[in-house]
Amino acid sequence: MASYNLAHIKIDDLEIIGYSVAGEETVVAMPQLDVCFDIGKAPNQIIPINNVLLTHGHMDHAAGIAYYLSHRNFCGQSPGTILAPENLLKPIREIIDAWSRLDGNKLPANLVGVKPGDEYQIKPNLFTRVFPTKHSKGSVGYSVIEKRKKIKPEYAELTGPQIVELKKQGIEIDYPLEIPIATYLGDTQYVDFSQLKYIVESKILIAECTFYQTEHTNRAEAGRHMHINEFAALIEKLQNEHIVITHTTQRTPMRDIRRILKDTLPTEKYDKIVLLMANRRR
Ligand SMILES: [Zn+2]
Ligand SMILES: [Zn+2]
Repeated sequence: MASYNLAHIKIDDLEIIGYSVAGEETVVAMPQLDVCFDIGKAPNQIIPINNVLLTHGHMDHAAGIAYYLSHRNFCGQSPGTILAPENLLKPIREIIDAWSRLDGNKLPANLVGVKPGDEYQIKPNLFTRVFPTKHSKGSVGYSVIEKRKKIKPEYAELTGPQIVELKKQGIEIDYPLEIPIATYLGDTQYVDFSQLKYIVESKILIAECTFYQTEHTNRAEAGRHMHINEFAALIEKLQNEHIVITHTTQRTPMRDIRRILKDTLPTEKYDKIVLLMANRRR
């Protein structure tokens, strides 16, 4: 049963479900990819997802770790996999051990420490690549990338039997192709992500844009978050088909956020934007 309402976005055959308000809670799941970016307070709807990709250790992003593991165990599911920056692995283990003692049941967990550049396989044809962000010590973001094989152009016209013959001879007729499906930045200050091709070309970008008003520029700086002006500079250099904004502040009403986005971004970019918490009542 749903513990509370989550926002729901559908992009082609992919769903994004989640809740993300700055300082309160952030959890963003993509069930078809079997990943949940950050865990928030572990709403029930995300418990069946096998992989949690944690960006950093702030409470509003990480509080639900123990409940997620415990509830999967309770429901007879396999231990959940949690990817987290490697510097957080020790405190995460300590929390899991403490909860195990408190609860009287050992919490099974598959913990994986990650650092920028690491890759982790999610499904046979799907993996995540880790990249650095600028928010807290060791903080990271994740791209989920599909692996496909594509036939080399020189062999494209061949018939089935000819292909079989070449394969028999041990000739490589195809080459690996990477298709970045979704990139989640987590909490971060402005970073020029246009240096990373798989982020530039990611079909979906899920990005924080916390602050909107001019007087909130200092807050963005102090909390290591993005202000709309930095967000505009960031997405200008990217080519994502869809951009999902998360982590909006409660200090600015949603209707004002929408207006400021419209006034600040070029129409071509504004048309690609979806606000995860579009229906937030403020
Ligand atoms: Zn946050
Ligand atoms: Zn944070």
